[in-house]
Amino acid sequence: VKKKGARFEKQARPVRQTAVLGAGIMGGGIAYQSASKGTPILMKDIKDDAIELGLKEARKLFAKQVERKKLTTEQMAEKLSNIRPTLSYGDFGNVDLVVEAVVENPKVKDAVLTEVEGQVGEETILASNTSTISITRLAQNLKRPENFCGMHFFNPVHRMPLVEVIRGEKTSDAAVAATVAYARAMGKTPIVVNDCPGFLVNRVLFPYFGGFSQLMAQGADFQRVDKVMEKFGWPMGPAYLLDVVGMDTAVHAGEVMAEGFPERMGSLGGDGEQKSAIQAMFENDRLGQKNARGFYAYE
Ligand code: NAD
Repeated sequence: VKKKGARFEKQARPVRQTAVLGAGIMGGGIAYQSASKGTPILMKDIKDDAIELGLKEARKLFAKQVERKKLTTEQMAEKLSNIRPTLSYGDFGNVDLVVEAVVENPKVKDAVLTEVEGQVGEETILASNTSTISITRLAQNLKRPENFCGMHFFNPVHRMPLVEVIRGEKTSDAAVAATVAYARAMGKTPIVVNDCPGFLVNRVLFPYFGGFSQLMAQGADFQRVDKVMEKFGWPMGPAYLLDVVGMDTAVHAGEVMAEGFPERMGSLGGDGEQKSAIQAMFENDRLGQKNARGFYAYE
């Protein structure tokens, strides 16, 4: 099996220049990780302040490495220069692989993917960091669906080793191979999975969030649930994890999962008349760590 895997990866076109669409929690993290391991990356967003935040986060992570004496300030500057922030597609012509990390909304992703496909070379691989939306579904409007796959990082990108590489119905072996190779070059552990809403990890995780949501509707105290799950051995409980993920992302991803698996999932947006705690937080603009208030308050 190992030998076959090695041959498979040899088919990969080299990935030398990359780009990420979206400079949010995930896009910023992906840019940092790529830059840190030496692959140049364009970081594109539609908002100046999002780019600023993405860069600030990357700077903070590199500065920590300098503090720990793992990098010199010169090395930090060199690595940071691997991230090229932009608001335009101007330099996308010679990008080998683009990771799409915009909001978890199928319509927005469709528009962005169609747009970027018109800006890149014929062989460029497009990879979506969607948490839940089927890759075959996102490939529908693309001219070159064979060059498209999922590349699903976890949050925070610099700490989470796993990357799901998702093969859609029309994804070519070469696209999977290049994406796997890029994930490895970023120091990650890629696993190749088949396509379905939520792929592997979120098919397990979202029913867990659904269970938490039901407990909340029945009057549970979120801090207590978090403490219990920590004692159970998990690094953090569901309320804290939702703050990390972002309530907007959780609600949108929950809708996709409920549509994909209606019999199993129960919507995070609330069942029947009972509005779920997660939906209520979202509607009250308590998005989690990204705006410093969620289940918990942040500085
Ligand atoms: P986020 O809200 O932090 O960032 C999204 C960014 O996309 C924003 O900066 C926004 O300005 C930008 N954007 C919107 N439209 C754009 C466009 N047309 N072109 C370029 N940029 C655009 O969201 P996030 O948490 O980083 O999530 C991004 C994606 O990653 C989603 O698909 C999400 O499901 C997935 N994801 C999120 C997590 C998580 O824990 N938050 C984990 C894994 C995957």
